[in-house]
Amino acid sequence: MKLIRKYLHPIILLIVFEAVAVTLWLTKNNLFYLFNFSYIGLSIFFGLVLFINKNKHARRVVQLLVGLYMLVYLGLICNENMQIEGFWYYLFTGVFEAATIHYAVAKIFGPLIFGRGWCGYACWTAMVLDFLPYKVPAQPRKKIGWIRYITFALSLIFVSALFLAKVGNIERIMFWAFIAGNIVYYGIGIILAFVFKDNRAFCKYICPITVFLKPMSYFSLIRVKCDTDKCIHCGKCRRVCPMNVDVTDNSRKRENGTECILCMECVNNCPQNAL
Ligand code: SF4
Ligand code: SF4
Ligand code: SF4
Repeated sequence: MKLIRKYLHPIILLIVFEAVAVTLWLTKNNLFYLFNFSYIGLSIFFGLVLFINKNKHARRVVQLLVGLYMLVYLGLICNENMQIEGFWYYLFTGVFEAATIHYAVAKIFGPLIFGRGWCGYACWTAMVLDFLPYKVPAQPRKKIGWIRYITFALSLIFVSALFLAKVGNIERIMFWAFIAGNIVYYGIGIILAFVFKDNRAFCKYICPITVFLKPMSYFSLIRVKCDTDKCIHCGKCRRVCPMNVDVTDNSRKRENGTECILCMECVNNCPQNAL
């Protein structure tokens, strides 16, 4: 009983993922969904167990387990374009499969529950960027977040143009677009990290997916909250935050609130256990 209480959150999350896995498996009559969501659920479960046991690599373990699975297995081996272009592609073909399901669960409706957990624990772009040296931004945030709307529009224009021009074998183009897109993302992400001395610069200014993630995570059920009676306003949480969130403000309008990736650095570093 004590054990169940200790691991209640990972158990609940595993049950949620299993429910999604079984529902999709039975409704779509496809065993892949059972495997896919069970694997992701177990990876997150394992990471949360590590986190509860104060393992400092817990988040990175989940990031690698899920990120590599998405990039290597789904992307390169199964030829599924899980980038935003793949989402547009499946949306235009009217097929509720792979990328559309992935976006619906992880990036559009899921953030209403777990905010930008995707960005902290699963994204294969950030999985690589988080290896770079600037885990805490060494420069103030720039006001260039508008670039994300341009990359968002470009991805939509690219896929729309393929459909409008009636280009043949778009599925194959999507596979190569996945490879090219990832190379470009990694290249830009690494360059920006060094230019702005901030591993997450790509996430803050360029990533088109944040156009979905930010507004949905505004309403997130799971969020870090501050016990203002315990807080001594030392500012440590702000200094260790990779996303420049003012986590001491409990309102939904907290500064950079929709950027929180639930990495728990602030929680682990608060000297007062106020978070
Ligand atoms: S903002 Fe984009 S690149 Fe960064 S972690 Fe989230 S989805 Fe990945
Ligand atoms: S680290 Fe803790 S005590 Fe310091 S400002 Fe943040 S919440 Fe308050
Ligand atoms: S340090 Fe805290 S506020 Fe900042 S992204 Fe991580 S969990 Fe969110």
